[in-house]
Amino acid sequence: MSQLFSYFQQNKFCVLVEYLSSFNEVFPVKTVFAGYPAMMTLADRVHSDHDMAPLDASRQYPDAVEKVLHFAGKGRDIQDLEYFLQQAKAADIQNLLLLTGDKLKEHHKGNDSAERSRYLESVNAVMAAKESGGFCIGVAFNPFKYAEAERDAQYLKLHKKIKAGADFIVTQLGYDIEALKQAQAFLKRHHYTQNILACVMPLSLARANFMLKHKVAGIVITPHMLKVLAEEKQAGLSERVYLRCALQILICQHLGFAGVDLSACHKPEEQMLLESYIEEYRHLDLHALEALWTSLWQIKTGKELMPEPADFSRPPSSGQIMKYHQLHVMHDAFFDSKIAKGVGRFIFNSPFWERRAAAKTLLKTEHISKHSIVGCESCGQCRLGDTLYICPETCPKGLANGPCGGTSLDRCEFGDRECIHSVKARLAKAVEQTEILKDKLIATVPIEVRGTSSWKNWYLTSEA
Ligand code: SF4
Repeated sequence: MSQLFSYFQQNKFCVLVEYLSSFNEVFPVKTVFAGYPAMMTLADRVHSDHDMAPLDASRQYPDAVEKVLHFAGKGRDIQDLEYFLQQAKAADIQNLLLLTGDKLKEHHKGNDSAERSRYLESVNAVMAAKESGGFCIGVAFNPFKYAEAERDAQYLKLHKKIKAGADFIVTQLGYDIEALKQAQAFLKRHHYTQNILACVMPLSLARANFMLKHKVAGIVITPHMLKVLAEEKQAGLSERVYLRCALQILICQHLGFAGVDLSACHKPEEQMLLESYIEEYRHLDLHALEALWTSLWQIKTGKELMPEPADFSRPPSSGQIMKYHQLHVMHDAFFDSKIAKGVGRFIFNSPFWERRAAAKTLLKTEHISKHSIVGCESCGQCRLGDTLYICPETCPKGLANGPCGGTSLDRCEFGDRECIHSVKARLAKAVEQTEILKDKLIATVPIEVRGTSSWKNWYLTSEA
């Protein structure tokens, strides 16, 4: 059993201190941080797509230090993960944080499906790691979503991550305590026993500006926050950055979080400052800590740490609903009924379809008939029946199980479209199909299946 898992079992609040594999120096690693058990996490390709692999970076640190390694699915396939799992086992790494990851810096849109950058979804990564066995598996979750559909989509996917086998959850970096409380309430409401840790970071004005300038995915920095940080800097009160971080850690502990993931605080002098504030304020109760937090952030309405508009919802259009119903009827008739499956299996069992020309014509016919309707990219493993007939390939990351954490008020991280998972979540509510978005774990598409006919594959593999 990993040390991290045993801390969870003993209800010991712990601190995961995040290190980047792009650091060109090795920092001392603490095993106790402000009295809490501490361990290191190594993030995957944060600065560039070519950062050293976390597993290689971990070898620079003593074996005795407990480690949590990140594996981001960006630019990765299931085989990459399987290789990573083997290597991690050989290196006696027991704790993993499996995430889809943000947009690759060198993302290729590709002219066809084969050239496009691929992202291995966290849900599929968790399924594979669980099957492999022996790991304490963490997943990322972003509770800082302020449009109804994107928030619903996040929570629907969290159900799937838990069902796939997640042992613990680490939130996105964020400063809205109410959103953190909602995440915890969600776990309680659904009787999930997974431990949740909050990602925290001493937020300076420079860091806030950097995150805004570089549009760091899924992180909310509001104009009000910038104003407060700028005023503090001007008044020579920059150390409040660490006080605020200490308060957030103590608040999380009082709220019952299992710990925090401490980001951007790896230098000994930064850690000392943060620890000193934790020691100074740890005698306060939750009420007093929250009052101080509210006053430091100059919160008056409660909306200051949320983006504008703070909350809105909009129903799916009648066209979207009608399209769903039409495609549902067609799918049932041509793909799901016993007769359709029997006829399809009979037709595609013929060796005729092994011929190159026949396979090519079939693929072309499928693509022409589906591309204009749903944006089909001939993935070879049609998942429309599990995605409310919204093709997962129309997500730039090709995610089928739900959104990544990078949306902003329903907009895709890529910025060029509405997030298809928000569209799906909204539609699911209207047609009363949210269960499927919560329960159905959609398998990843093997590389060798891409560019083959999903019709043929469907009939030959589906059960009668
Ligand atoms: S999921 Fe279906 S519609 Fe989408 S690319 Fe794959 S085969 Fe085409």
